[in-house]
Amino acid sequence: MKAAVVYGKNDIRVEDYPTPKAGSGEITVKIKASGICATDVKTLLGQGLPKELPTILGHEVVGEIYEMGEGVKGFNLGERVAVYPIAVCGECYYCKNGHHNLCLKEFGLGHGINGGFAEYVKLPAQIINIGGVIKIPDELSYEKAVIAEPLSCGIAALRKNRVKPGDRVVIVGSGPMGLIHLKVSKWAGATVIMADVLDKRLKIAKQMGADYCINVSEANLEEELRKITGGTGAEVVITSLGIPKVIEDSYRLVRNGGILNIFGGPPAGQPITLDPRWVHYGEITITGSFASTPDDFKKALELIASGEIIVEDMISDRFTLDNMLDAVERAKNQDMIKGIVLFK
Ligand SMILES: [Zn+2]
Ligand SMILES: [Zn+2]
Repeated sequence: MKAAVVYGKNDIRVEDYPTPKAGSGEITVKIKASGICATDVKTLLGQGLPKELPTILGHEVVGEIYEMGEGVKGFNLGERVAVYPIAVCGECYYCKNGHHNLCLKEFGLGHGINGGFAEYVKLPAQIINIGGVIKIPDELSYEKAVIAEPLSCGIAALRKNRVKPGDRVVIVGSGPMGLIHLKVSKWAGATVIMADVLDKRLKIAKQMGADYCINVSEANLEEELRKITGGTGAEVVITSLGIPKVIEDSYRLVRNGGILNIFGGPPAGQPITLDPRWVHYGEITITGSFASTPDDFKKALELIASGEIIVEDMISDRFTLDNMLDAVERAKNQDMIKGIVLFK
């Protein structure tokens, strides 16, 4: 098969690679579409390599079942499926309580095992056994279904942040995941305030239904928010970018009794300073959300299939495996919202 194989820093080669074979309890999927995530872009840009090399990235995968190992039940060859990308033990405290993404032995597509930037991917039993291979309704296209994974992360954040109709939600960072937060927050009935430094990003957010778009290089977000909220601040503030300084500054946007969510993955070793009086006297909740659970994933797929959340406007770029490294240039210029790699 053909695959985009990561050998090292700035060393990714599109080349022939052994096609995986489904062993006992495993499934191989012939991939139809793979989404390119911010984490993938970081690695493609040469920042933060996976531990074991060579490897194949890509954790947003849809395709058809190509091969089933011994003992796999409930699926048919050729069936159209979306893949929850996290493999878990199924036995630890977290798995038993439905918090699969927090599993102590968690690994998954593109981290620990080969992922979706290839013609085929092998899914371990640890994904299949937790219901991580989900059938795609006939009428739903692969292009739309591939957004289920990022959307599920937005659904997970929504759940953690307990967003209610009428809440004011500030989303700091209007990149691809910021726009996903916008979509799920609007679906939940919130008023959404998007912040970014790039007008082109905010323009897209406006088109996608943002109520307010604030360019923080021109305006003072805190002051603008006070005007919008009558002085209180927002019920929920999501930091959708992993910049510690921005997270540190975002607390000023939260109203008393509100929630600050740390969504974007911050780099290691860069602590922030927080006034405990703010948390205590303001009765603030700080939440984290990382990836999603299989239930979030199923919910995301349902919302896409029913048309309750429109996702096709997320896809700005379509690549083949051969030209997918062009995504790096597009991402560098911040021109790409969401890129997907399509397969025949
Ligand atoms: Zn992703
Ligand atoms: Zn576990």
